[in-house]
Formats: sequence, C-alpha cells, structure tokens
Amino acid sequence: TAESAKSFFRRNAFVLFTIAAVVLGIILAFSLRPYQLTYRQIKYFSFPGELLMRMLQMLVLPLIVSSLITGMASLDSRVSGKMGMRAIIYYMVTTIIAVFIGIFMVIIIHPGKGSKDKLHREGRIEQVQTTDAFMDLVRNMFPPNLVEACFKQYSTRVFTRTILHSSNATADVATTQIPVPENFTIIPIPGSANGVNALGLVVFSMCFGLMIGSMKQKGRALREFFNCLNEAIMRLVAIIIWYAPVGIMFLIAGKILEMDDLAVMGGQLGMYTLTVIVGLLIHALCILPLLYFIVTHRNPWVFIAGLLQALITALGTSSSSATLPITFRCLEENNGVDRRITRFVLPVGATINMDGTALYEALAAIFIAQVNNYELDFGQIITISITATAASIGAAGIPQAGLVTMVIVLTSVGLPTEDITLIIAVDWFLDRLRTTTNVLGDSLGAGIVEHLSRHELDAQDCELGNSGIQEK
Ligand code: ASP
Repeated sequence: TAESAKSFFRRNAFVLFTIAAVVLGIILAFSLRPYQLTYRQIKYFSFPGELLMRMLQMLVLPLIVSSLITGMASLDSRVSGKMGMRAIIYYMVTTIIAVFIGIFMVIIIHPGKGSKDKLHREGRIEQVQTTDAFMDLVRNMFPPNLVEACFKQYSTRVFTRTILHSSNATADVATTQIPVPENFTIIPIPGSANGVNALGLVVFSMCFGLMIGSMKQKGRALREFFNCLNEAIMRLVAIIIWYAPVGIMFLIAGKILEMDDLAVMGGQLGMYTLTVIVGLLIHALCILPLLYFIVTHRNPWVFIAGLLQALITALGTSSSSATLPITFRCLEENNGVDRRITRFVLPVGATINMDGTALYEALAAIFIAQVNNYELDFGQIITISITATAASIGAAGIPQAGLVTMVIVLTSVGLPTEDITLIIAVDWFLDRLRTTTNVLGDSLGAGIVEHLSRHELDAQDCELGNSGIQEK
C-alpha cells in the first residue's frame, strides 16, 4: 500500500539517497571524463566531497575520546574486562583469517610473473629493522604528549626511510625526520601526512574511563561531562548525515575523473587487483557473515543492510576513522546495538582491527616477491603473516595508510621496499575496498560482542535498576 511504501521510504531514506548518490556520481564522472578536466578543475569539482571528509574528520577525535571514556566509565570493571577480551579475541581471529585468505589467494592465482631481474639482496638502501617497527607500534600506545597525539603519529620516522626511491619516490613529507639524499624526490602519499595517533588516544581514553568508573560517586562530574560531550557530537553527526550523500557523490565522481585510464590495469597489475578483490570479497561476504551467524544465530544480511550507509561512506572516503561517526549511527539507530558495546568496540576496532588491510598487506608482499622471482620459504610466509597483522594494527584509519605500513612487511623478509611503487597506481581503488571490509569487520564484531556479553549487560541493568549512572 501507499502507506507502507511511505514508511519504507522514511525508514530507508538515507540509504536510498546514498545509493542514488553513488550511481549519480559515477554517471556524472563518466560523462565529464571526455572533457579531460585539469587537475585544478577536478579539485574544484570535488570540493563538496572534500568538505564532507573534513566534517567527518572534525568529529572523529572528540568522538573517539568521549565514547571510549563514557563507555568504560559506565561499565563495571568485570563487565568491561570480559567484553574487552571478547573484542580482542574477535579482532585477532578475524585478522588472522584475513591474512590467511590473502596468502592463499595470491599463491593460488599467482598474479606476479617474475618480470624483474632476479632480486639482488645487497646494495639497497639500508633496511628498516622489523624490531624498530614493532617498537614503534608500542611507542605509539604511550604518547608522551597527548596534544601532539591528536595530530601526529610517531611511527613514520622509520617507515619513510625506505619509501624513498630515486626514480619514483614516495615518502611521508610531513613526518620525514631524516635527511633526504640529493638524488631522491619525494611524493607525498595522499592522506598519510596527517596521522592522528589514534592508538595512543585509545589507550589513554580507555584507562582514563576505567579510572573514572572506579571512582563511583566522586567521578560523577567527569562522567556527566563526557556523556554530554558524546551526546552533543552524536547530534552533530545526525546533521552531517544529511549532507553525506552529496559529499559522497562528489568524492566518488572526483576520484573517477582523476584516475588514469584503465589501461594501466592490464597485465600483472590487473591480475593483482583481481586477486585482492576476490580475497576481500571472500572475507567480507562469506567468512565474516558466517562467523556472525554461527555466534549469534541471526541473519547477517539484515545486520549488514542496516550498515549500508556506513559501508558506502567507507567506499567514498577510504578512511575507516572518517567513517566512524556514521558507523556509530548505523549500529545504534538501525541495528539497535547497545551503546555500551559500540562505545568500546567501534573506536578500538577502527584503530586496530583492519581485516582488509591485513589481507592486502600479506597479499601485496607476496605479489612483490613473485614479481621479483623471489622464492619465499615457509618461515618467511609465517613472518609475512605476523608482520602483516602488526602492520594492519599500526595503520591509521586514513586513506592509503596501509601502503605506508607495508614497509614493515616487505623489510621483514628482505623484499625491496621501493617496489611499493609497482602497486601505487591501483592502490586508491583497493584502498576503498579494504576500508569497506575494515568497517564491516568492526561492525559485525560489535554485533558478535554484544551477543556474547548480553548476560553481563542484563545483569548490570538489573543491578542498577535503570536508575544507574549510565544512560543506555
Ligand atoms: N584506508 C584504510 C582505512 O582507513 C587503511 C588502509 O590504508 O588500509 O581503514
């Protein structure tokens, strides 16, 4: 009936708008492409998209901090401990599965054909020590300066040293702390320059929230403060969400206008792209929904349908942290996930749980080995899986961060880091897909952790008799 059609439209208006925006953006871009707009014209054209990105990024920092602090402060420490354990186990399990799929796909499909000269292991730029990279990961957890952590990651110092390459160089300009040799040029990797040290902020906010929670009545003022901050930010999100379809349309259209002709996708690079896509699809559309179904016995597709807007935003922004505000809203409003869960699982997940990135890093490293005719032994493949996991944890949720942290993976088995340049041409595209997978992984994780923790949550509800310190 007309009534039910109306109510369907009202319930799904945002999703419908967003899907329409994507389609429109693609049509618009392909009809403008023949005009060969200049770089400047494209930038003007995609300005509304850039604005969306900036608005979302503006909210991320206060959102992460306030949701983690309120989330932790509102939970009994026994409950938060158990919930935290479950979330961490979920992150680990899914990341390991993702890495495994990546390795499996690249070995089976074998997209790299050994086109370069056999790899000479000597005479390259000094290698980054894998230990250094791991230590940087831990260092980032404890930022000496909280204000600086809001706009700077420590890790890139080591990474940048090897992304320099004499002919086609890339490096993270803003964070380069080493002198650049004369014959090297530097090309900034988009987005990588403004890394928030989310890991450090997450660790601090969690501990801080736990402390406030343990202070009972004395902590009340702070609890209310952060609660209120969180609420206000979520209200801002509710406004921005109206603008999101417009922004996404221009983000996608702008990117399509900017991209090189699809001819570059031919040959090995095309096969590589295809391998990554198939791997990501298997993980996102088979493994994760299956896991959700096994644990919760609920229909994963209904849950995923509720997430559609967040997934499309991830596709449009290629940043899981910029998508975070939308992910929050989708899970809480559409899927009714308990706020005490989302407030913990989502910010932590957006920071450390990146299935898509882990899959991609392992796959890309082995692809580079194949191109170099370099036989990896079993031990080296294990090393790749461990370092790919670490690299995905260390990657910030910003565009193409995974490309930067891939240096850890390559150096751990002595592959030439300058070969990252081989895959840069298609990375903007693969980045969007892996970001979408990352967001999906975090969201299904929230559903799973909620299901597993419902007894404790119910118990806490009873104890507090709904007049307790936290609003649900
Ligand atoms: N762009 C990805 C994200 O935000 C990270 C990556 O580059 O893999 O999740």
